[in-house]
Amino acid sequence: MSVRRKLIDVNNSPDPQKPLKNQKALVTGANSGIGEACALAFGAAGADVVINYVSRPEEAERVVKSIRQNGTRAIAFQADVSQEDQVQAMFAEMQKEFGTIDILVNNAGLQRDSRFQDMTLEQWNTVIAINLTGQFLCARAAVREFLRRGVVPEVSTAAGKIICMSSVHEVIPWSGHVNYAASKGGVMQLMKSMAQELAPKKIRVNGIAPGAIKTPINRAAWATPADEAKLLELIPEGRVGVPDDIARAAVWLASDASDYVTGTTLFVDGGMTLYPGFATGG
Ligand code: NAD
Repeated sequence: MSVRRKLIDVNNSPDPQKPLKNQKALVTGANSGIGEACALAFGAAGADVVINYVSRPEEAERVVKSIRQNGTRAIAFQADVSQEDQVQAMFAEMQKEFGTIDILVNNAGLQRDSRFQDMTLEQWNTVIAINLTGQFLCARAAVREFLRRGVVPEVSTAAGKIICMSSVHEVIPWSGHVNYAASKGGVMQLMKSMAQELAPKKIRVNGIAPGAIKTPINRAAWATPADEAKLLELIPEGRVGVPDDIARAAVWLASDASDYVTGTTLFVDGGMTLYPGFATGG
């Protein structure tokens, strides 16, 4: 089969509305914000989905119910992504329920903000443990299964796909949030180094760097019209993002339409990384 013919097949999957049909996905931190939107979009795209959560089981159940109504399978699983034994238990449960994993979205994350001189070791360690070590633990578990199973051509051209939820702060320094910015800079190199090591095995690893997206994590930044107006000064497109902006990018990165994409960060930020302060000179 020629390369061109193969490309056409990839872009014209049998069911373009369901680019993730028959795939098994796990989304961490999927009972809120961006993770919830990704889980719902994956379900709508035909995937069975594990909804990881650490607290608020009722919100996880709401996401599960919504996915099942769309016709694919979903289960909720409580696990703190920074705890190795809990991550192992989650992947074992996924294996039991769904038989394998095709897509991991490393989404769980949080902030513990502080002026640098006042930042406690606990604030530092918490953010690194969840935002960075949590991504390592989940990715390692997923990769072990991808390698064991290999490519199943009827399901996907890849042996597995990992999407690391990063942030524009993987490149933009962030005063008052050094732990968070350091964790996302780490996520970028984790993602790229995994991608380099695993590409020969047909495992694709990419990142998404959201700009400002309306979710509970950053409510203070858009809570009042004055706050939102200030935030908009940083966004050339002139609107704050919504979780679906990220979910659409995640579906594409998880699908065979992005078969030749690995080791890259997709910035979904309305232009936040375009140095808007320089728009009128500089
Ligand atoms: P959110 O607070 O709505 O969601 C974060 C999710 O992570 C929640 O479900 C939370 O329970 C979960 N979580 C926290 N600690 C966990 C743990 N130890 N184990 C498992 N789950 C845990 O915020 P969000 O905006 O949806 O954030 C999702 C991801 O997107 C994060 O990695 C965040 O850094 C990133 N991000 C968000 C924005 C934004 O503007 N909202 C911008 C850039 C990056």
